[in-house]
Amino acid sequence: MKAAILNSGPLRIEQAPIPQLSPGQVLLRVRACGVCRTDLHIIERELPVLRPHLIPGHQIVGEIAGGATADLPMGTRVGVSWLGGADGTCPYCRRGMENLCDAPVFTGYSVDGGYAEYCAARADFVIPLPAGLDDLHAAPLLCAGIIGFRSLRVAGVEPGDRVGLFGFGASAHLAIAVLRAWKCEVYVSTRGSSHRSLAASLGAAWVGDEHQMPPVELDRAVTFAPSGDVVIAALKSLRKGGVVAINAIHLDRMPEFDYDKLLWGERQIRSVANMTRADARDFLKIAGEIKLQPKVTVYPLDSVSDALAAIKRDALDGAAVIGL
Ligand SMILES: [Zn+2]
Ligand SMILES: [Zn+2]
Repeated sequence: MKAAILNSGPLRIEQAPIPQLSPGQVLLRVRACGVCRTDLHIIERELPVLRPHLIPGHQIVGEIAGGATADLPMGTRVGVSWLGGADGTCPYCRRGMENLCDAPVFTGYSVDGGYAEYCAARADFVIPLPAGLDDLHAAPLLCAGIIGFRSLRVAGVEPGDRVGLFGFGASAHLAIAVLRAWKCEVYVSTRGSSHRSLAASLGAAWVGDEHQMPPVELDRAVTFAPSGDVVIAALKSLRKGGVVAINAIHLDRMPEFDYDKLLWGERQIRSVANMTRADARDFLKIAGEIKLQPKVTVYPLDSVSDALAAIKRDALDGAAVIGL
């Protein structure tokens, strides 16, 4: 099969054997795979190298092409996300917090992913996909979408809340659709005029640049930029008892801030780590109901490096997807 492979050098398109299945796995013929900023961090080795030879990609739409079961017959279309597996036995898994598992499997990072014509996946971690969403538009939902949705949960968003989104990339442009479906007022603060006009077109009540404060006190906020200053800006806009959820694996740094003014009053800062299968199921169900249609730019597998470069330049509105 053809695959994009990360060895010691840059990502290269090569021929590779079709994966051999272990017990409990299914083989997928990949139809589409989203390209995520985390892939860029893996490929540029900003995240620790876990495997000397890796096929990245963790937003996979594929059809069952091997290892079929009664529940997953041949040809069934499913999704695979960043959480490729959890041990099911650690204290976190036993508490229903598999996103915090002590021994997780990460698709396209600790195991091979979907920048390829075929991939293997754990049968109990593939996600049913709503029929109304085509392959290319379903793929970006599987990371940016699910994790954006989890961020709304971590922030404790309730219907009708005033919610701030700080940064407006792949994840936020999906989260806003869910917020609008929940009748929330959405305040978007982001750099980049094209991101601002996209936010306005998707129903934001207010849009400003990264230096502007929303004109009202927010009930909840989610930050998407890998910047501690943005977290502080979000905290400054919260009412008492409000929550900031940080949808970023890394922050550049966390600045000092005034506890008395910014955090006292039972305001909270929370991080968002990974996702659970329940997040995936619940989000995809809503996505199907509201006919969520992410904005996508499609690349062939041969051009995956162009997609990664565009993400690095922040040149895309919405998400990049490899179509196979
Ligand atoms: Zn991702
Ligand atoms: Zn576990």
